[in-house]
Amino acid sequence: MGKETGFLELDRQDRTYADPKERVKHYKEFVIPHAEPALKAQASRCMNCGIPYCHNGCPVNNIIPDWNHLVYEGDWQNALEVLHSTNNFPEFTGRICPAPCEAACTLNIVDQPVTIKSIECSIVDKGWENGWITAQVAAKKTGKSVAVVGSGPAGLAAAQQLARAGHSVTVFEKNDRVGGLMRYGIPDFKMEKHLINRRMVQMEAEGVAFRTSVEVGVHVSVESLKENFDAIVLAGGAEDPRPLNIPGYEMQGVRFAMEFLTQQNKRVAGDDEIRAAPRGSLTATGKHVVVIGGGDTGSDCVGTSNRQGALSVTQLEIMPQPPVKENKALSWPNWPLKLRTSSSHEEGVAREFAVLTKRVVGENGVVTGLECVRVEWEGGKMVEVAGSEFTLKADLIFLAMGFVGPRKQGLLDQAGVALDARGNVKADTNNYRTSDDKIFACGDMRRGQSLVVWAIREGRQAARAVDEALMGVTELPR
Ligand SMILES: Cc1cc2nc3c(=O)[nH]c(=O)nc-3n(C[C@H](O)[C@H](O)[C@H](O)COP(=O)(O)OP(=O)(O)OC[C@H]3O[C@@H](n4cnc5c(N)ncnc54)[C@H](O)[C@@H]3O)c2cc1C
Ligand code: SF4
Repeated sequence: MGKETGFLELDRQDRTYADPKERVKHYKEFVIPHAEPALKAQASRCMNCGIPYCHNGCPVNNIIPDWNHLVYEGDWQNALEVLHSTNNFPEFTGRICPAPCEAACTLNIVDQPVTIKSIECSIVDKGWENGWITAQVAAKKTGKSVAVVGSGPAGLAAAQQLARAGHSVTVFEKNDRVGGLMRYGIPDFKMEKHLINRRMVQMEAEGVAFRTSVEVGVHVSVESLKENFDAIVLAGGAEDPRPLNIPGYEMQGVRFAMEFLTQQNKRVAGDDEIRAAPRGSLTATGKHVVVIGGGDTGSDCVGTSNRQGALSVTQLEIMPQPPVKENKALSWPNWPLKLRTSSSHEEGVAREFAVLTKRVVGENGVVTGLECVRVEWEGGKMVEVAGSEFTLKADLIFLAMGFVGPRKQGLLDQAGVALDARGNVKADTNNYRTSDDKIFACGDMRRGQSLVVWAIREGRQAARAVDEALMGVTELPR
């Protein structure tokens, strides 16, 4: 434990953000990290609880009190080692994880959780700055080969673990760049992409081969992977977006959020307009934007629209507005349902809750507005409020209502693996094996739309299962 009385003496103080008026002028990250003395002070607040609930709150079970203690002592290198023992990519989670660990922290009972995520981010950033993070090349090769399909956080974590266990690993990615939704969904202002490139270099040095612009099921068949590899890990994500089935949805100006976000990330990456916009350039500049869907994807559309200079941005959510403050007696240490205001929301948006969209209206096939009605929820049932109809002006409508599951065409049709009731690839979390003995599955493709930290967990655990299946025993951690 850092300092016995740390939590009594010091209040929580988290990283701050650059001024919204300034940060909307660019696409760079805008978090202002703490200097070392402030980080040590914040780490000293960790009480090293007898039962550290943060461990369980964190999906990769980061050993949080141990690295908090090491940071307080100024032993950053050992803190990094402990952090890496459970998480391959803390620089990703340290930026974009919603931090369920902090919800589970004992000090959250009084709304003062330890700033776990910021400390995690500083440990790994310091590791890179000081050159402590290098390739960990396996001492012995096993002679076995594994194909990983998909290079999101699940595929990357699985590939790194398998390469470190001595297997020859090839990652197949249908996009032109590695990273999955971290590359082409999550905007640069939340996580800059050089962080992914840097890990790629490390993984290549560890022996991982990346084959980008190769779609398994289209350019390479599943059958040929089965012939050429000892095992296959499916980590292709849950890419099928939930559609909007209301009259007028086919009008010009109604687009899936991912088309918009991908295009902007490609622009930031320096791709030319044509390469970035196969269906025509899509920008919010000078437009009234309506985002349907209140989650992360919707919030990223808000931040991107503001950066592009939208005239107005409105975000609609069908569920009622949750309470600003949770009832800790009922929720702690679990993730509470409460109103969450993202950094993108702070930059400017009109948020509307309990609103149902009824019809897209337009002229000559081009969207001009969205008809809506307010709803109430009675006993879990949605009821329209009579006389509450209204029309929002809209030039662009982004559909951000989540994802229904993995795409079936190509890869999954060819693999022929069994699906669960929700349409995800069926495999349990002990052996991650699908209905085909040689094929394993992890991440969003197995669990459905989720979080980066869950994808890393599943990638690590699936790697362990594959290693055990190939070698009979495994030393990879769960
Ligand atoms: C806009 C947006 C914002 C988000 N923000 C956050 C956030 O802030 N924090 C957070 O924790 N989570 C966030 N998420 C969720 C998070 O990004 C995902 O849960 C996570 O990336 C899932 O990882 P994955 O590796 O399972 O799949 P993905 O990241 O989806 O990666 C799958 C990869 O597989 C590739 N692929 C698919 N099929 C094939 C094939 N046949 N052949 C070759 N390659 C294939 C795809 O091209 C893709 O690159 C967000 C999601 C979205 C859409
Ligand atoms: S990965 Fe997420 S849940 Fe785990 S310690 Fe980091 S911020 Fe917390």
